Amino acid sequence: MSLSAQDVVQRIENLVQEFRNSLDQVSVFEDLETLRVEYLGRKGKLAQAMTSMRDLDSSERPAAGKAANKAKEELNDLLEGAKHALEQAERSNRLAQFDPTLPGRTPWQGSLHPVTRVTRQICEIFKGLGFEVVSGPEVENDFYNFEALNIPADHPARDMQDTLYISDSVVLRTHTSPLQVRTMQKRTPPVAAIAPGKVYRRDADLTHTPMFHQIEGFLVDREVSMADLRGTLTSFVHQIFSPDTRVRFRPSFFPFTEPSAEVDISCVMCGGTGRVGNSTCRVCKETGWVEILGCGMIDPAVFQAVDYDPDQYTGFAFGLGVERVAMLKYGIGDLRLFFENDLRFLRQFG
Ligand SMILES: [Zn+2]
Repeated sequence: MSLSAQDVVQRIENLVQEFRNSLDQVSVFEDLETLRVEYLGRKGKLAQAMTSMRDLDSSERPAAGKAANKAKEELNDLLEGAKHALEQAERSNRLAQFDPTLPGRTPWQGSLHPVTRVTRQICEIFKGLGFEVVSGPEVENDFYNFEALNIPADHPARDMQDTLYISDSVVLRTHTSPLQVRTMQKRTPPVAAIAPGKVYRRDADLTHTPMFHQIEGFLVDREVSMADLRGTLTSFVHQIFSPDTRVRFRPSFFPFTEPSAEVDISCVMCGGTGRVGNSTCRVCKETGWVEILGCGMIDPAVFQAVDYDPDQYTGFAFGLGVERVAMLKYGIGDLRLFFENDLRFLRQFG
């Protein structure tokens, strides 16, 4: 018995009906793909039906071929429709599970580093006292870092600071004091400024790091005295720590100030008593005092370097370590914590 076009067309129609029935059972995307391969794949059921067309008379092949193409189109449309329906179902399922009353997820927020925080607080306090904030280069000429600050070459004071040299005459600034010189060169008195910034030293141990933060401050005018310096620094200490913090000046030496002093404050940890509970205070080592900064009256040699007349003008200058202030303010015992950037430490200041 020979195959007729009628037979092939019937076979294809059955195949389409069978496909529709199977499609009704599909509920997941994976099954949809399995069905597609089974019917429309290279060795699928439709391909097999088309293979049987080879046995047809050539006059009957067009009718059968037309039926096969139509079936292929229909199966593709059905698949596309089923896929769309599954997507819709999945979407409404997701929406049904969404609870708009649940709290949202807050994005994690960073916070200022304690050194930045304290720097800004110090700047705000001095701005309130009439000082302006200035800044300058971290890579400095020998002139600004040493020479103009009354520290000529071979001066023993150069040994006080373990300098990092870029070349014979260029250094990483060892202090923020060059900003005194740079600012005074540009201004005529009265001038009052503070200069926060990074400074660099070669020494590094438990209590020193090769980079740390300093704030330089200075004021020049007619008839500025040590009493003005004391008043300014006392006001600063009262604002950054507390109004009952006591201040004392001890004679000291710096090449760029004369006279010079180191300033102690009553220990913030033990209130100046030297004892915490039954034990000795580890911050002030029982003395009741902690050193906070160095200061003095600007040396006439510095004025000469910037063409200020020392007979007309006097001024004071001071320099403090930001990490030192932050350690005392927050009761932090280890300097290295500021540079390790452990988030558990930093988040305490958020
Ligand atoms: Zn103490």
